[in-house]
Amino acid sequence: MTKQFTDEELKKKLTPEEYHTLREAGTEAPFTGKLLNNKEKGSYVCPVCGNELFSSDTKFDSGSGWPSFYDVASTGSVKLVEDNSGGMRRIEVLCAVCGSHLGHVFNDAHDQPTGQRFCINSASLKFMQKDAKKP
Ligand code: FE
Repeated sequence: MTKQFTDEELKKKLTPEEYHTLREAGTEAPFTGKLLNNKEKGSYVCPVCGNELFSSDTKFDSGSGWPSFYDVASTGSVKLVEDNSGGMRRIEVLCAVCGSHLGHVFNDAHDQPTGQRFCINSASLKFMQKDAKKP
C-alpha cells in the first residue's frame, strides 16, 4: 500500500535534505548523518508517514558511515526493489507504507545474526526514544 502525499505537503513537513533523500532517492555523505552514532533505545520511524522501520535492538556499527541495521522492525516495514542506477546492481529499501527512499540493503554483514546490512540514511529516519511520551 502506498500512501500519497502532495509535494507541497512534504516540502512543509520535511527539511530540504530530508526531502531530497526521501523523495528524490538522495544519499547523504557518509559519517555526516545525525543518527549514525545514536545508541539510545527506541524505534526509527519514517519521517513522512510515521511507519515503524527499524528498532535500536538491531542497529550496529558497520563502519560504512551510515546507520546500519541487521533487520527490519517487522515483516512488511519496508519494501525492497531492484535498483540498477549508477552502474550498480543494488537492492533499494523503501518505506512500505508511503514508498519513500530509505537506503539499500547488502548481504555482507557476516558478523550479524541475519547477515544483512540495511544501510539507511539518517535523513530517512526519525528516532523515537523508547520512553518518550507520544505527542
Ligand atoms: Fe513512510
